[in-house]
Amino acid sequence: MAKYSGSCLCGAVTFEVTGEFDDFYLCHCSRCRKDTGSAHGANLFSTTARLRWITGQERVTVFTLSGTQHTRAFCSTCGSALPTVQGEGALLVVPAGSLDDDVPIAPSAHIFVASRANWDSELHRLPMADGPPEPR
Ligand SMILES: [Zn+2]
Ligand SMILES: [Zn+2]
Repeated sequence: MAKYSGSCLCGAVTFEVTGEFDDFYLCHCSRCRKDTGSAHGANLFSTTARLRWITGQERVTVFTLSGTQHTRAFCSTCGSALPTVQGEGALLVVPAGSLDDDVPIAPSAHIFVASRANWDSELHRLPMADGPPEPR
């Protein structure tokens, strides 16, 4: 069975996912934009894979937005996004950027595109730099 390792930025929290991912969505909704501070969330979903915390589980903070099922987990030291188990254990949600291994599937779709940020369009047309921005 496939195994994927992940961690937070400070390294206190490490985890392992065993199994396969079903879907990979780039969500542009306003909640995911707040969560990430970015254009969209990038989450892997699985109804069969299993999550195991290896270190730092006590630093994992889980937040559910009141009145919704919008849930996220993050390292209480560095704030990095971490996996959550939702739907009473039925659904594993893994932020793609939290994995240290290559993500095994390509994104399935952009979703909630109607809610995207006003600057979020035609981003593939921007100049691409391999490192820091070119000096002005
Ligand atoms: Zn951390
Ligand atoms: Zn979203």
